[in-house]
Order: sequence, then structure tokens, then C-alpha cells
Amino acid sequence: MTDDMQTLSIDERGYYGEFGGAYIPEILHKCVTDLRESYLRIMESERFRADFDALLRDYVGRPSPLYLSRQLSERFGAKVYLKREDLNHTGAHKINNTIGQILIAREMGKTRIIAETGAGQHGVATATVCALMQMPCTVYMGKTDVERQQVNVKKMQMMGATVVPVTSGNMTLKDATNEAIRDWCSHPVDTHYIIGSTIGPHPYPDLVARLQSVISREIKVQLTEKEGRDYPDWLVACVGGGSNAAGTIYEYLNNDKVRILLAEAGGKGVESGESAATIHLGKAGVLHGCRTLLMQNEDGQITEPYSISAGLDYPGIGPIHAYLAQIKRAQVLAITDDEALRAAYELTRREGIIPALESAHALAALEKVSFAPGEVVVLTLSGRGDKDLETYFRYEDQFAL
Ligand SMILES: *Cc1c(COP(=O)(O)O)cnc(C)c1O
Repeated sequence: MTDDMQTLSIDERGYYGEFGGAYIPEILHKCVTDLRESYLRIMESERFRADFDALLRDYVGRPSPLYLSRQLSERFGAKVYLKREDLNHTGAHKINNTIGQILIAREMGKTRIIAETGAGQHGVATATVCALMQMPCTVYMGKTDVERQQVNVKKMQMMGATVVPVTSGNMTLKDATNEAIRDWCSHPVDTHYIIGSTIGPHPYPDLVARLQSVISREIKVQLTEKEGRDYPDWLVACVGGGSNAAGTIYEYLNNDKVRILLAEAGGKGVESGESAATIHLGKAGVLHGCRTLLMQNEDGQITEPYSISAGLDYPGIGPIHAYLAQIKRAQVLAITDDEALRAAYELTRREGIIPALESAHALAALEKVSFAPGEVVVLTLSGRGDKDLETYFRYEDQFAL
């Protein structure tokens, strides 16, 4: 492998191999170019770094702990550490990204924020930082999702955000994203669009990966303290759009001693027709501003993905991960609903930690590989399970141990 292949570095046009790029309407050209030309300068500035670090520490509660799970270690014959993103303010890793992006928006003189959301987690993380910075916030959410996720809708409204139910298409995340892009086209000057994962036109995938890379920077420091070396043998994370995974692996891509295991949502099974296993099933195409692997039918129409976990059912995947899978730097497993539910119940019983359903996909992946005795495994627990309690209760009879 060349150096280039081992890093997340992109070329000038934002490509990771054949994936990425910026496929945008003319009207957004200037604001995407402005963002591309300023994000690195802003992120490297004293002021950004000081504000970002202070907020991650005092508002989010970072560094998030690296916790050695005795139970999982015994069960898998390796040293299994959990990177506890579930302990962050708002309950997941998403806040790392929204804090970073709102600081960038402020530096760029933007006065209004928009976002898309599926289950509402990214919407809540965005509404949170908008309340913090006193910026007006509009969140686009499919009408179906608005009905399914009342608590998150109420939380966003409580924090002052306007939630717009989207009634086009299947009324889910893809349609909400289209609507957010439409809004941005109408307000390109004053509005910043906070995208919630490592997707969208360049520079978003790179920007979001960099903001989430705090996860792997902390792992380095924490492993040095606990293991006397700054890298694990394995990194494990779930992938929806790919942001918690990108943050987890960011600092380690050049280290080929570190194996990367990613878990995508297999739904009812990769071959069942009800799945969100984009890397297994997807074909290359363009959606929401970038070229990546997409779930699509023979005519190239996007097919509706399915997963029990709302955070993983996006029909695309970050171009970074499409690329890492293609060059085999990452091993990608499709985890079914049942496997994720079982792993969630097991962690809850054995460790007293109720994980998010998304994170439970990463936990289930541990069962699918074999570890050499004493190997060090770091698994990112991307979020907490409070938002998934209703789903867990529904399957209580089946999975309670
Ligand atoms: C949104 C979400 C995910 C999936 O998003 P990525 O961008 O792939 O990280 C995973 N876990 C939790 C808890 C989430 O809220």
C-alpha cells in the first residue's frame, strides 16, 4: 500500500479512491467552496482549538472513559476495552461534530443553522449546540420519523429548534436530507448546514472525520496509560454514515498493526430484502453530494434501507468507509437485528451498561472473529440505550437472559 492508501487523506477534489467528491447544484457552489477553503484554517486556529477543547471538556464531559470490560474480556479471551461515547452530553458521539461545526459556522459569519435527522439524534445534538450558541435552528425530519420519535421532536422544540416534517418520498431520512439541501439552496449566504455524519459533498466527510478524531486521540493517551503502548490490536465500531467509526480509526490508519472491524446493519439478513448493509449490497452511485456505495435497484433508484436501529438505516455510507472496505483496510460485517438485540441484552446484564442499538451491532461483531489470547480490543460504544428502551422492551421475552 502506498502512504496515501493508508491515511484518510483525500485529494484536492475530495476523493478517497473512486469515492467522495462534491456533486452539488450550481447555487451551492460558492458556499461549499467557502467551507472547503476555510475549514482547515479555522480548525487549526488558536481560537477554534481553545473553544472546541474547552467545550468538549466542560460541556460534553470529555475525555470519555476507556473502560476495560472484565466480562467481555473473559468471554472473548482478549482485553476488551469500551470507549464510552455513551457518557457524553446528549448520550452519543454526535455532539463532538455539532460543537465543532457550529464553531466553524460562527467563524464564517453564519447566523442560521439547518440540519437533517432520521431518528432525531443528530437533530437533538444540533438543537443543543444552537441553544448553547443562541443560533436559530431548523431541523428537517421525515414525517414518518416525526411520528416515530416524539421524544426527540419534543426535545428539539424544547431547545428552541423548528422541526419541519417532510412529506415527500418515503418521509424518512433521505427525504429530510433532500429538503435540507433545498433549504440551503435558498439561503446559501447566511446558513450553515450541519451534516451529521461522514457523508455529503467534500469537505463534509473530511470535516466530520476530523472533528470526531478526538475519539482516537484520546484512545492513544488512554491506552498508553493502561497498556504501555498507544495502539490496540483491533478497533471495532458500528457504521451508519460512518462518523463514530471514522473518529475511532482516524489516528490509526497508518498503523497496519491495528485491524479495523466495522459493523453495518444487516437488518433481517443481508439477503432478506430488509437490510441496511450498504457495503455488502451497495453499488456505486451519487447521493446527497458524494459518490459512494448506495442501496439501489436496477434502475439506480435508491431503495429504502431497513434496520431495527434508526441510526444505521441510511441508504449510503461515508465514502471513507466505502474506500477502506474496497482496499480491504477495514473488514466489514453485517449484523442482524437479532444479533444486535442479543448483544445489547448481554452487555446490559453483564456490565450494567445499556448500549444504543447502533453500538450493539459493534458488540455483536465481537462474536464473529477470533482473537489471539491477550490481544487488545477497543470497541467504541457510540451511544447509550435510553432512546431505544421501547424497542428493547418489545423483545424482552425473546432476549432477556
Ligand atoms: C447516529 C448514530 C450512529 C450512526 O452514525 P455514524 O455516523 O455511523 O457514527 C451510531 N451510534 C449512535 C449512538 C448514533 O446516534
